Amino acid sequence: MNATVADFIIGNVWSLPISSDVANDIQAIPISDSTAFCLTLGDSNEGSFSQFVMEFYKDCPPCVWADFLWHKGCASHFFVFAWLGIMGGLKTADMILKRNVLVASICYLCHSKNESIPHLFFE
Ligand SMILES: [Zn+2]
Repeated sequence: MNATVADFIIGNVWSLPISSDVANDIQAIPISDSTAFCLTLGDSNEGSFSQFVMEFYKDCPPCVWADFLWHKGCASHFFVFAWLGIMGGLKTADMILKRNVLVASICYLCHSKNESIPHLFFE
C-alpha cells in the first residue's frame, strides 16, 4: 500500500478501511484543525525523513568537526570510534584509571609509555 495519512482522513473524520482494535484506537485520536500544535515540515506539504532531520536540527549550532570525521561511504563504526576518541570516551588505560579501576597503565603496544589517546594516535 502506498498511502499517506491524509488518504485516511475525509473532512475532519478518520476514514479507515479496516475495523479492529487498532483502528478504534486510531479513530479515538482527534484530528485537530490548524490552530492546534502540530509537527510540520516547514512550508512543504510533502515530508521526508531528511526534511524532518533538517527541520529538527535547524536551531542547533553547526558542528565544526563533523565534516572532519564523517565521510560518505565511510562505515559508521569508524565515525563512532573517532568521535569517542575526540570526546575522551575510548577505554584507554588513562581513562579507566580516572574511574578508579586498577589496570596497568603501560601501553601494550610499545611497553614504554603510558596508554592514552594522544600516545596511541599521535605519538
Ligand atoms: Zn605505546
